[in-house]
Amino acid sequence: MLLLEENSRKEIWKQVFDSIEGYISGIDSLPVSPELDAEKIRSMLARLDFGKALSPAEAIDFTVEGLTKYQVHTPHPGYFGLFNPAPTTMGIAADALVAAFNPQLAAWSHSPFANEVEQHLIRAFGEKFGFDAKQTDGTFTSGGAEANHTALLTALVGSFPDYAEKGLIETGTKPVFYVSAESHHSFLKAARLTGIGAAAVRVVEVAEDLRMNTESLKKLIVRDIAQEFHPFMIVATVGTTNSGIIDPLDEIYQIAGQYGLWFHADAAWGGAAALSPEFRPLIKGIEFADSITFDAHKWLSVPMGAGIYITRHREILSRTFQTANSYMPVTDGVEVLDPYSHSMNWSRRFIGLKLFLSLLVAGWDGYAEAIRHQAAMGELLRRRLRANNWKVVNKTALPVICFVDGQMESSRDYLQKILDSVLASGKAWISITKLGNGQDVLRACITNYRTDEEDIETLISVLNEARKQTSKGQQ
Ligand SMILES: *Cc1c(COP(=O)(O)O)cnc(C)c1O
Repeated sequence: MLLLEENSRKEIWKQVFDSIEGYISGIDSLPVSPELDAEKIRSMLARLDFGKALSPAEAIDFTVEGLTKYQVHTPHPGYFGLFNPAPTTMGIAADALVAAFNPQLAAWSHSPFANEVEQHLIRAFGEKFGFDAKQTDGTFTSGGAEANHTALLTALVGSFPDYAEKGLIETGTKPVFYVSAESHHSFLKAARLTGIGAAAVRVVEVAEDLRMNTESLKKLIVRDIAQEFHPFMIVATVGTTNSGIIDPLDEIYQIAGQYGLWFHADAAWGGAAALSPEFRPLIKGIEFADSITFDAHKWLSVPMGAGIYITRHREILSRTFQTANSYMPVTDGVEVLDPYSHSMNWSRRFIGLKLFLSLLVAGWDGYAEAIRHQAAMGELLRRRLRANNWKVVNKTALPVICFVDGQMESSRDYLQKILDSVLASGKAWISITKLGNGQDVLRACITNYRTDEEDIETLISVLNEARKQTSKGQQ
């Protein structure tokens, strides 16, 4: 029953791919955010019985129904959400191939092709970020959180030679590192996981433009050194999750150099600017980073999860993760790289294929075009918001728009009501967030290459309607 008959398999593939095609071509007619009712989902599940086998067709239908009814449809063009894109066609095909061929990416010798594809991609992206391909090393990760965790580990190993063997307790080191108030929360978790503790994360305030305030950064470093802490890393965010803001990379690089600190660029989403001739200048300075986090499952629209950690220090991943004695395995006189000696994982799936196939088919130009389109839709949304008396509060050329009502006091409570009304419409999905300066805002991001002028107009009319309803309720 684990391997089904050939005829049955062919029917299953057809059913699966028909369901996928039905979802993609019919997504416009689904509510972006359906009712997400835990009770209903549980009673649906309670009707099943693992003691009684279902036919493959029933099992697949059940799943497709569940996924269609009970999830926020991130691939919907009305999803103005949290960097979760519509997956590329080639990315979907890649994940199916990976599941079937099931290459094991622990050791090179088990899956040479898959390994070489991933290393090829790491070098290609390293070059896009301005690294020397020959010096570039890296690893695919489950996502940005794992890539940031990897960055923290490599920065610790790079800064404290005893870290990998002895840890920090014996040496009495008190490491601290710096992130902006707009940075991603994964660094807090990573600090817990490495054992240096969340208190080791120094949160630097942001200036009015929401970029890291480098004067405050310098003051904090000086204070920490005076108090016998050991600063070791500064994280610059390249496209913050909240507001798409890019920290001042050149200045941060200089401060890192002055104090001998590791410079990590968290470019999970905004790193895609490297693929766009127009936006590449915005991330100037990223080429000086010691390490970079980049997520292909964000702006490059491959299915989740596909993170990348890239570094220009060839040895640092091995120094961090290598446990056996042999340094680099050599196959037929050629140096090859075992992924397990380069990451937290042992068994690992072929994450890179969905990026490889997407890039092979779209090319750099195809991606540049998608980025251009999404940025243009972001500009259009900004214009249409302003024309309708909504006030845009963040300044970025990237398509994340934070806004409040331009004609009403926008308390958290008020914005929440607007948000609830937008979500209830089923026509668009946006979110609410608190910026690093404490301001509550609504947030809309063009995450989808399919989002067009009509979707922008729909969002505007849904927002205007929400304002009307909410103000009525408040009178
Ligand atoms: C999304 C994001 C992360 C976390 O990445 P995951 O892939 O969700 O784990 C980290 N940093 C930034 C700036 C992000 O936008």
